Amino acid sequence: MYIQDQLREIRTQMAAAATRSGRAPESVQLLAVSKTFPVDDIMHAYHDGQRCFGENRLQEAMAKMPGMPADCVWHLIGPLQRNKVRKALEQGFALIEAVDSLKLAQAISRIAGELGTTARILLEVNVDGESTKHGFTPEELIQSWPELTALPHLDIRGLMCIPAFTDEPEDARPAFRTLRLLAEQLRATGPLPLPELSMGMSHDYPIAIEEGATIVRVGSAIFGKRG
Ligand SMILES: *Cc1c(COP(=O)(O)O)cnc(C)c1O
Repeated sequence: MYIQDQLREIRTQMAAAATRSGRAPESVQLLAVSKTFPVDDIMHAYHDGQRCFGENRLQEAMAKMPGMPADCVWHLIGPLQRNKVRKALEQGFALIEAVDSLKLAQAISRIAGELGTTARILLEVNVDGESTKHGFTPEELIQSWPELTALPHLDIRGLMCIPAFTDEPEDARPAFRTLRLLAEQLRATGPLPLPELSMGMSHDYPIAIEEGATIVRVGSAIFGKRG
């Protein structure tokens, strides 16, 4: 079975990368990015023990999640529009990964409050400073930190990034390191432990793990090329 073979190979590579960097293999979570793939494919991964899945579009996730067993854990990894926050929170994602502005964080906190819940999120950082990209610049994040951490209905679990794609996976290492150092800096200012760093995709997840990733988001290396 293609998907199960791929999953096993990735788990092996993940454990090796964790060990190389002196970390326990269990400290890194594999998020299987199932966007564009049908429930049949996702079920193959499920039958191989995979439970954590990532979708980048709310509409697609809403269509697929009811078709999967209830013990699956879902992360929303794509951009979220403010007018879709309520739907996203009602959908029951375990983690909203790509919170890319103070305004969005404020909207999520407010609506989570209205729904009587606390939203678990990651903050997306624009680690390579391209103005066209989503996310807080490191400077913006440091500046907004007091306001972000004061939002009452958010559980900010950590940071995520999507560095610019390059053919050479090593080229992403400085971006991953930037994210880790930024998290360390924010931890030192308090008050949050920020345990999660979501970084690394199919072509560079071992490097992300070496640089401290706790969540790697892997799609095509598991499910095959997207059409
Ligand atoms: C699609 C996607 C991934 C997975 O990409 P692959 O290269 O297929 O592993 C990871 N993160 C985000 C935010 C994505 O949209």
